[in-house]
Amino acid sequence: MAFDFISEQLSNRVNDGLYRHCTAITGSQGRLLNVDNKNYLNFSSNDYLGLASDPALINAWQKGAQLFGVGSGGSFLVTGYNKAHEDLTEQLKSWLGVEALALFSSGYSANQAIIKLLLGKNDLLIQDKLNHASLMEAGTLADCKMLRFKHNDVSHLEQSLIKHGSNNANKLIISEGVFSMDGDCAPIRSLADQANLYDSWLMIDDAHGLGVLGKNGQGSAVHAGLKNSDLQIYMGTFGKALGVGGAFVAGSQAFIDYLTNFSKPYIYSTGLPPAMAYTISQAAKMVENEHWRRDKLHSLINTFRRIAAEQGIQIAHSSTAIQPIIIGDSKKAVRLAEQLKILGFWTTAIRPPTVPVNSARLRITLTAHHKIEDLQRLVAAIRRVLNEL
Ligand SMILES: *Cc1c(COP(=O)(O)O)cnc(C)c1O
Repeated sequence: MAFDFISEQLSNRVNDGLYRHCTAITGSQGRLLNVDNKNYLNFSSNDYLGLASDPALINAWQKGAQLFGVGSGGSFLVTGYNKAHEDLTEQLKSWLGVEALALFSSGYSANQAIIKLLLGKNDLLIQDKLNHASLMEAGTLADCKMLRFKHNDVSHLEQSLIKHGSNNANKLIISEGVFSMDGDCAPIRSLADQANLYDSWLMIDDAHGLGVLGKNGQGSAVHAGLKNSDLQIYMGTFGKALGVGGAFVAGSQAFIDYLTNFSKPYIYSTGLPPAMAYTISQAAKMVENEHWRRDKLHSLINTFRRIAAEQGIQIAHSSTAIQPIIIGDSKKAVRLAEQLKILGFWTTAIRPPTVPVNSARLRITLTAHHKIEDLQRLVAAIRRVLNEL
């Protein structure tokens, strides 16, 4: 039978405790999630600064729709590029300190675009082993040679560069700024040093660092004492700390001009709705100026780690909004999440292939919406369920 693998692979997923499906939430993303008429404390959201349902942004979206309509009507190079996109681009350039920037509808497609655009047959792509699936898949689909270095291990990266990077090929090193499933930060300064030393480009995917790290939320590189313009490519998304959706790629004017002229995912895709760009502008202003959101988040992070430690719960080393409890066994991680759900907490069990085998985890994310008592209740519930399991 044709396509037999479909039912085969699905039943394997069920048997391995890895089957996935979507759950519809009602209402908006916030401190509470409403599912099937029940409220849960939300510890699964990437809406780190609590902006996804902010009244000012809801207003901005409504006003944007009135000004520009609901759709962009075309790709950016045809009629889809609006003054709202141009304004957003200029604003981001000045906030983030980058020379040029291109907007995308999603981070996934931005990552596909960059790798395919830059790396040909004889070129070398070196990625951190724990990089996001969008980067890994793009590397697999491109014609280049792809190597992976051990997570955050700069000397392993250097060995690869010495061994495979000595010819004249173009080289691109990619790391996340904050790792999406672990919450730890990349050693960006050392990565930049290696890149310089071996004549490679460095790209940081800062989906989880933008808005959360850096004095004005400018992200991981600034947090590490660099400028975003020290990186050849700085990529970020608007769907996490900025609370909206979409993404950008930043770099030199020549690189962005090249992307605009040659990248198929850029050229042949409908531009993100201008009302959305307008909303993202407002979100970026709030991220830049409303320091209390970052301050509150970081204070919650410290509190959570302290009270979890007091209860003997081991949290992975992370100073960001992503606070994973490594469980190991996938089924156990799923049971933990299910039990927490019964107790009124929405957390997510993250399993292979999203994370390495035997490293299933409870991925807890904190947001500026949380209260200290929410954290206390969560930690008590985790302690109780872990004791029972
Ligand atoms: C979420 C994410 C992406 C994808 O961005 P979307 O805008 O959600 O498509 C890319 N890279 C990393 C590290 C991410 O966490």
